[in-house]
Order: sequence, then C-alpha cells, then structure tokens
Amino acid sequence: MTALLTVSDVVTSYGKIMALRGVSLRAQKGQVTCLLGPNGAGKTTLMMTISGLIKPQAGSIRFLDRNIAGASASSIVKAGMALVPENRLVFRDMSVMENMDAGAITRRDRDKVAEDRERLLQRFPRLRERSKQQAGTLSGGEQQMLAIARALMSNPTLLMMDEPSVGLAPLVVQEIFEVIAELKKDGVSIFLVEQNVHMALKVADHFYLMDHGRIAFDGAPDAIAEDEVISRAYLGERREAH
Ligand code: ATP
Repeated sequence: MTALLTVSDVVTSYGKIMALRGVSLRAQKGQVTCLLGPNGAGKTTLMMTISGLIKPQAGSIRFLDRNIAGASASSIVKAGMALVPENRLVFRDMSVMENMDAGAITRRDRDKVAEDRERLLQRFPRLRERSKQQAGTLSGGEQQMLAIARALMSNPTLLMMDEPSVGLAPLVVQEIFEVIAELKKDGVSIFLVEQNVHMALKVADHFYLMDHGRIAFDGAPDAIAEDEVISRAYLGERREAH
C-alpha cells in the first residue's frame, strides 16, 4: 500500500494550550481514512495543521514526496490536497459558481478547469440550478455540497473533510455519504473527520481515534466493532443491528 500522507509526531499549540501532543497517522492511496474523537480532542486542529492553516511546533507531515509541515496553505493545495472545512465555510456573499471557481484559483490549466466544473455540476445538479444564487442563501446541505465541490475544483489527490455531516438532516447525511462513496470509486483518496460512525463504517477503510491531542486507537473497521470502549461510545445500543 502507498501512504499518500504520513503524519509523524506532530505537535501544535495555541499559546500555552497544546492541542496536538505528538500525533502520528497515515492515509493510504485510494482509501477513506476516518478520524473519530470527542469534542476538543484536536481533530480540527489536526486538519488545519495538515492543510497549512496552522503551523506545527514539531513533527513532520509528508504528502506524496515532500515534507509539507509549515508550508503555506496555497502551496499544499497546489501539491494536490484540498480541505472541506468544518461548518461548511463557503463564501456567503459570492455566488455558487464564484465559490466553485475560487476552488480552482491555484490552477493554470484553464481548459481542464472548465471540464472539471462541468463534471461537478453534473454530479451536483442542485448547484447547477442555483449557480447564480448567493451561497449564503443555500440550505445547509446545499452549502455542504458546495464546500465539497469547491474543494474538488482544485482536482485534489487527497480530499480532507472535517465533519461534513454535522448538523444536517439524515437524508442529507445519506447524500453526503453517497458522494463520498462515489468519489472513492473515482479514485479520490479521502481523510475524513466524522462522528457518525454508522455512516463512516459504510465507506471507511481505516479508523483512528483521537483523544486529548493523541491517537488513542487505530484499526480496521471490524476492530471498531470489536473494541468494547469504542463501540460503546460510538455505536451504542444499535451495535447489534450492524
Ligand atoms: P470538535 O469536535 O468540538 O470540533 P476538535 O476535536 O476538532 O473538537 P479542536 O477544535 O481541534 O478539537 O480543539 C482542540 C483543543 O484546542 C481544544 O482544547 C480547544 O479548546 C483548543 N483550541 C482550538 N482552537 C483554538 C484557538 N483558536 N485558540 C485556543 N485554543 C484553541
């Protein structure tokens, strides 16, 4: 297996608060890697550190063949990694199409950008219908689809998704996981922060659990169901049904 992303002993602090206390993990090519963890565990900090939005104090982050720890966010996007941020952060005052084009800002292959935009509008027909609408007026689910489409406009090798299903209705969550499954089929590698383990189990190839800024568990999907503590915390009484 080929590791696209290898995070080794990464430490990130906010002033005196150490949010990441030496995190190591990998994301393999062609796979969906899922990161679980309670609120405040450091998941978003890790996503932002990997994506270049926060600089780590220590450790290395290898993406493809380079160490990207401390590199700028735009150079990391150019290298082939895109982030779908937490809380579906779209540019609210810009139209759907302008948001999508913003995702391609680091690209120079304009013909290919137009092709990719067309392909994404086919995948997300509601975005085509609303292409001129202000992003801030879209529903929560539509904004999440737009945040995903915008990230995909950079044509990433690795898509980083920070809790894409949070706060959305069950049917919309299902749609988002269908999109994740399709992307995986298309060969996009995905690193996903997700609390909905029942849904994550449908797409993920490998799980990590983060707690207090450290990786506390790492294993294949069946190991999640077998681990007493994790299955109790994340699968609850519905465990028997799966
Ligand atoms: P959640 O699931 O609630 O989003 P998380 O696992 O993503 O949580 P982080 O948001 O990464 O956790 O937070 C990790 C720790 O860092 C927490 O203790 C949090 O209070 C702290 N923290 C996060 N952002 C900042 C900030 N900008 N300034 C200071 N402390 C921060």
